[in-house]
Amino acid sequence: MQDEKKTKKQLISELAEIRRQCALLEKPDPDRYGAEAALREDGEKFRNIAETTVDAIILANSDEDIIFWNNSAQRIFGYSEEEILGKPLTVLMPDQYRADHLRGVQRVASTGESKYFGRITEMQGLRKDGSVFPIELSVSMWKTDQGMFFSGIIRDISNRKKLESELEIMATTDKLTQAFNRTKFYKVIKNEFERARRYGHPLSMVMFDIDHFKRINDTYGHSVGDYVLQTLTRIVSENLREVDYLIRWGGEEFNIITPDTDIKRAEVLADRIRKAVESYRFDQAGTLTISLGVAQFMADDNEDTFVKRADDAMYVAKNKGRNRVEVCA
Ligand code: GH3
Ligand code: MG
Ligand code: MG
Repeated sequence: MQDEKKTKKQLISELAEIRRQCALLEKPDPDRYGAEAALREDGEKFRNIAETTVDAIILANSDEDIIFWNNSAQRIFGYSEEEILGKPLTVLMPDQYRADHLRGVQRVASTGESKYFGRITEMQGLRKDGSVFPIELSVSMWKTDQGMFFSGIIRDISNRKKLESELEIMATTDKLTQAFNRTKFYKVIKNEFERARRYGHPLSMVMFDIDHFKRINDTYGHSVGDYVLQTLTRIVSENLREVDYLIRWGGEEFNIITPDTDIKRAEVLADRIRKAVESYRFDQAGTLTISLGVAQFMADDNEDTFVKRADDAMYVAKNKGRNRVEVCA
């Protein structure tokens, strides 16, 4: 065993000596050796950066085969280096991006240009486990004697996107009832106006207010009043479609935006809600009623004129004795 080790050691040192001799035989070219040393140094720098960055760094050749894969790429996508090297870039993309990607590659091959070069693009990545996640991608391309190469730097932005959507929900939701707030109303109504104008689809609104709500607060206290507002929100929501929006307009007044709905259907919806509230028993607060006003969007409406017509109809309902639906004439 000892001898065997010694023999191996000897062989290695002999090999090193042969290499040294061979190198001496070659006429040293200081420029070439300098350039190679610089290249080696650059390579090392690149590897160092690639292995310490939080972003995935992926290199591919002109056949779109992956030829470099750093630690973060492994962490983000779930493939080890052995699994992924030689695989096409498209394995990292959800189906809907693949055709566009291949067209893009053809464009690069013929024009040398791509819409992805020189900017950061948000898109989606596909993990080994099949899950799709949001990414930020920056791509560059270069050419050598061996052909074209691509590099992609990919950042997993799942956490940022989740945080953004949580903030968006917080900013557009009423804390007490979890209905939407007015910020959401102004966002939604703009889009719905545009859709209604473009496609000529009907759009309606239902405004409603709790009848004699002050009495509930005065009789049972503010926390029972809060419970009523929360429960009422749930009852109304159960009577809406996914595409409808329930907004807490203020106090005990609410607004429903109901897309693709004409005034007749909005009136039917309003009356269904009225009945659902009327027949519900709100624990110690007992029963209560609401008054509702309905209006349909008209082509020259803005937010204020549309709301005003629903609001006016609601006040007619109040004046005519409450617990009823009135439609804007
Ligand atoms: P009407 O039938 O004419 O609508 O009578 P009303 O008593 O419902 O109307 P009024 O506007 O006089 O009363 C609204 C009450 O709603 C007054 C206010 O204290 C109460 N309110 C507004 N916001 C809240 C809230 O967040 N929680 C509770 N508990 N009460 C609220
Ligand atoms: Mg009221
Ligand atoms: Mg009110």
